[in-house]
Amino acid sequence: MITVAEALAIIGSSVGTGPVETVPLAEAAGRVLAEDIRSDVDWPPFDTSAMDGYAVRLEDLPGPGASVAERREMIAAGDGPADPLRPGEAVRVMTGAPIPEGTEAIVPVEQAHREEGRVTFDAAPAGGAHIRRRGESVREGTTLLAARRRLTPRDVALAALAGADPVRAFARPSVAIAATGNELVPPSRRPGPGQIRDSNGPLLLALARRGGFPARLLDRVSDDPAAVDRLFEDARLEFLVTSGGVSAGDHDLLPEAAARAGFEILFHRVAVRPGRPVAFARRGDCFWFGLPGNPVSTSVTFQLFVRHALDVREGNGCPGAPRAGARLTKGIRGGARETYRDGLLSSEGSGNVVEPLPTAGSHDVAAHARANALIRVPAGAGDLAAGDRVECLLLEP
Ligand code: AMP
Ligand code: MG
Repeated sequence: MITVAEALAIIGSSVGTGPVETVPLAEAAGRVLAEDIRSDVDWPPFDTSAMDGYAVRLEDLPGPGASVAERREMIAAGDGPADPLRPGEAVRVMTGAPIPEGTEAIVPVEQAHREEGRVTFDAAPAGGAHIRRRGESVREGTTLLAARRRLTPRDVALAALAGADPVRAFARPSVAIAATGNELVPPSRRPGPGQIRDSNGPLLLALARRGGFPARLLDRVSDDPAAVDRLFEDARLEFLVTSGGVSAGDHDLLPEAAARAGFEILFHRVAVRPGRPVAFARRGDCFWFGLPGNPVSTSVTFQLFVRHALDVREGNGCPGAPRAGARLTKGIRGGARETYRDGLLSSEGSGNVVEPLPTAGSHDVAAHARANALIRVPAGAGDLAAGDRVECLLLEP
């Protein structure tokens, strides 16, 4: 049986990046850039004032109480270049205004007093005080944002400053989701004898949509070979993610149906707990993830494998759920397989701590809902003690 790392390597080598499209900058937050963004301007674009104040020369303000003639002009944000500052002169400038050549400091209005064409200053300013210099933040031609980065709202601000609108971004892969199993009824219905409500369909839809991927929930599929075959027929599928029907039971029909429909099974079963029966297959540019039906297994295998694959397809240079190191608050049992345990991660002092949550097993949706992280216990690591460092997968943004 392959390891988690081997499964991720198979996903990485079989799922290439998808197409690239043009996106208006206003819609680009959360999208993965397909090209570098360079600035076509300096930032700030000119020497400018950081305060509402007076532009002065240092030699005119040797100490407290110095007084200078005020130019009969005020320079505001949006004004064009002003005449140079003459010796013995101060000019009122507003925040964001281009300052006159020769300005050596800005004195805030609060520290100045105007009277009959003159301004008196409380104190001598430091050289360069409250002046923002052209290009001190960004130089024209600098690469500000590299391709394969998922844009944050702050990145969008930077791209706007750099004149990048529209931007080139990778298309978002679309996801079709189906829950399989004769026992399933919709959440809105009260289950009859032997039946349970479908929680995996809503879970997977929510996970895909929260990642920003266009996703739709297909009709539930019964454990019937013809119904399962129909699932794999749609040729327009990009990512098909199913739950159930991939274990060793008599009704676990999906891997064979996928193979019959022309999918190449790239892996089936991974040494991971929970989630061992997970399957991954490909037919051209269509990818199928068969996630096991136990609800916590479904969730963990989505976080580990599906999320990684969607990110790779979308060109993201850092695919997969974010990870963080933490110290265990309690000991936990290790196992032969790589194991993921529900945990509650929080920051304590300068580091993170994670509390392993009690769980009844891979059906314990209630315990899983309390977790905000998955604690990774490496294969064969043995039991871990309180205070040991572990790696966690973050479930919440
Ligand atoms: P399976 O992987 O089909 O063998 O299912 C494993 C376990 O998960 C069984 O107890 C199923 O009843 C349960 N299960 C399967 N699908 C779902 C679902 N969509 N929602 C909740 N539980 C499920
Ligand atoms: Mg089933």
